[in-house]
Parts: sequence; C-alpha cells; structure tokens
Amino acid sequence: MALHVKKIPELLVPAGNIKTLKYAVEYGADAVYIGGKKFNLRSLGDNFSVAELEEAVDYCHLRKVKTYITLNSVIFESEINELKEYLNEIKHIKFDGFITSDAAAINLIKIYFKNPNIHISTQVNITNSIGVNLYKELGAKRVNIAREIKFNDLKEILKNTTVEIEVFVHGALCISYSGRCMLSKYMAGRDANKGQCAHSCRWKYYLLEEERPNLFFNIVQDKKGTFIYNSRDLCLMSKLDLLADAGVSAFKIEGRMKTESYIAQTVWAYRKALDYIKNDEFNDEKKSFLLNELNKCTHRDYTVGFMFLDNCNELEDNEGVSYIKNYRFVGLYNGINEKYGLPLILVKNQFKKGENIEILEPGKMPHEVRINEIIVIKNNCDFVSDTANPNDIVIIKDIGNINPYAILRIKG
Ligand code: SF4
Repeated sequence: MALHVKKIPELLVPAGNIKTLKYAVEYGADAVYIGGKKFNLRSLGDNFSVAELEEAVDYCHLRKVKTYITLNSVIFESEINELKEYLNEIKHIKFDGFITSDAAAINLIKIYFKNPNIHISTQVNITNSIGVNLYKELGAKRVNIAREIKFNDLKEILKNTTVEIEVFVHGALCISYSGRCMLSKYMAGRDANKGQCAHSCRWKYYLLEEERPNLFFNIVQDKKGTFIYNSRDLCLMSKLDLLADAGVSAFKIEGRMKTESYIAQTVWAYRKALDYIKNDEFNDEKKSFLLNELNKCTHRDYTVGFMFLDNCNELEDNEGVSYIKNYRFVGLYNGINEKYGLPLILVKNQFKKGENIEILEPGKMPHEVRINEIIVIKNNCDFVSDTANPNDIVIIKDIGNINPYAILRIKG
C-alpha cells in the first residue's frame, strides 16, 4: 500500500552547463544547482561564466525553477580577497540559494547579498540536530545532512529542528566521509576539497614490497581485481516515501559532471516517483518500474547506502565496480528538417535498421519504436542507410515528431 505523504519534497538536480540545465528543467527539476568558474567543488567541469549564470537563472525563473549556486570549496586565507571579488562580480544575480561549507563564504555571502538563503553543503558532514541548529544560528535555511547517518537518526534530527533538511537520494558515493578526503590530492595532486577530485578511490590497487618496485602482488578481492576503496552508487528510489513522510524538504541528485542523457533519465524517474507519491500511488509495483528505468542509465550497482543498510559490506561489494550499461544512448533531437517536416537526430552511438529504439520525453511514458528506415542527411543531400554512425545527422520516420528534449536509447 502507498504511504500518504503530506508535503512533497523539492527535486534538486545538478547541472554542469547550460545544456544539461535545460534538460534538468524540462524533465521536471524543482531546483537546479550550478557552479561558477570559482570556489565550487566541480572545478574540472564546464561550469558557468558570469553571463551563463545570469542566463541560467533567467531560464529557470521563467519556468518557476529555483537556482542555487555552489560556493562550497575550502577557502584558504590567501583566497579571501579573490572570494570577495567574485561575490562582487555576481552579486546582481538573483540566486535562490547559496550552497556553502566554509564559514568565510557564509559570512561574506551575507554581506554581498540581501537576505540570502544559505544551504549548508554535504562537505560539512552534519550528523546531528545540534550541528544543524548551530548552522541555523549562522543563518542557514537548509542543511544537506551527511550521507553517513542512519534513517532513525534522520527522523530524530527532523523532530529537533526547523531547518530544512536535504538528502542525497541518487548518485556516486565517496568512500570517505563525503568529499573530506585527501586520497586524490595525495595520489594525483588534485585536491577533492578544491573541486579537483581524480576519483582515486575507484582505481585498482596492488600490494608492493619496498625492495621490489616492479613486482605487483595481487590482493585478490574477486576475479575482477582489487578495488578496496570503490563504492557502489547510491539509489534511494525505493525509500523516497519514507524520507518524504519523515519530513525531508529536498531530494538531491548528485552529478554535475553528468551528461544530458543521464540527467534526463534520472530526473524523469524521480519526477515520476514524486508524482506517484503526491497521488498516494507509490506502491511496490511503481517502485520496481522506476528502479527498472534507473537501471537503463549507465551506473555502478546500486545501494541504499549507510542510511538504510544494517551491514555496510554491500557498499564495497565489488560486483558493480565497472559501469553497468544495459542501454546505449543513441541520439538527441537536433532541430527539424524542412523537406521531411520531421526531427533531425544527432547520433551519439551506432544503431541499425531493424533495431527497436526507445524514446524518453519529458512528462511521458517511454515508448519503443522499430526502426524501418534511416535517412542520413549530409552536405545538403539525403540518402537511405542501414546504419547510423556517431555524429551523423539522421531522420527516423518511424518516430514521428518528438519533444526537442527527447532521449533515444536502445537496449544492449
Ligand atoms: S577520491 Fe573518492 S572518496 Fe575521495 S573525494 Fe574523490 S570520490 Fe570521494
């Protein structure tokens, strides 16, 4: 039976650039979080220039979607002036929230912006209500609660605070306390606390004896190798009703480096889940349908994480160490062809005549169509082909007219 939930949490979605932001919005995000070119924890991503931040906020506000900026890197004394200059540069932009961790950033944001909504980042690792309420005194409206707490503790925290609590529900996990990790800096010179993580925890490890530098001993975890620090991906789809019922204010998806197809597919599934919860329809059948949809995205084996596991061995379980690709993402809408009056598709991965293509569009159930004909458009000519190759522009008559944000995928 479906649980009756009084208040539906906000769906908060990452966007690494303006293109993925549009997919996030069109597929049903209530709010997006984005990073500027400085002081955010994804410094290796595209990120947004000041002009792009303005464009992003305008795009979202026109569609009644909130925009939060991440300013959550560690701030060193020598960077304070640079932070002030950056805040001065962006102070005219009407952000709906500021995701921060460093006390300097919290303090300065309050100086440069009028009544800012301060959201405390996962980077702070708040694990109890005293911590949450302390940040309230510093001006926090919302706290992203540590992924490492148990569900019973979360329920107690919610009873003991009026601050909004945000929970990560989907995406990659750190094997250390969310981001508070020096592994990448030590091994690759890239500081995770400055947004440069090299994901060293996902690497394959050997045992080495100091006198034999070229002899790597296998430490056998399983037949695929030894990935002692690697973690599964978090997926709390099956627990969303419990979290919403407990009073969580926002469900956050991880992944500002992810592609438009990943964003479209995950946001589609979580939007659908929230709609089911709103209508008291989120039963076991719906959960399993949506988990199946999430299995179509590229992912590592999923886990319900520290919050719901009795025994955390599963987090390190090695079976899903490499990415699982049940479906291949084959194409995106790329405008309309005037001659045919049909959508042009930009091919991302090869597909062939005779295959069944699945079309995912915002707000609609995915549906499958058999490809009977592929028309390739090249140098103002068009010709029929049995195969579509990456970067081709093609027409597939069988799919008819599709939403400009449609994602095309094929099983296998
Ligand atoms: S190396 Fe792994 S555990 Fe450390 S910050 Fe990066 S992703 Fe997280």
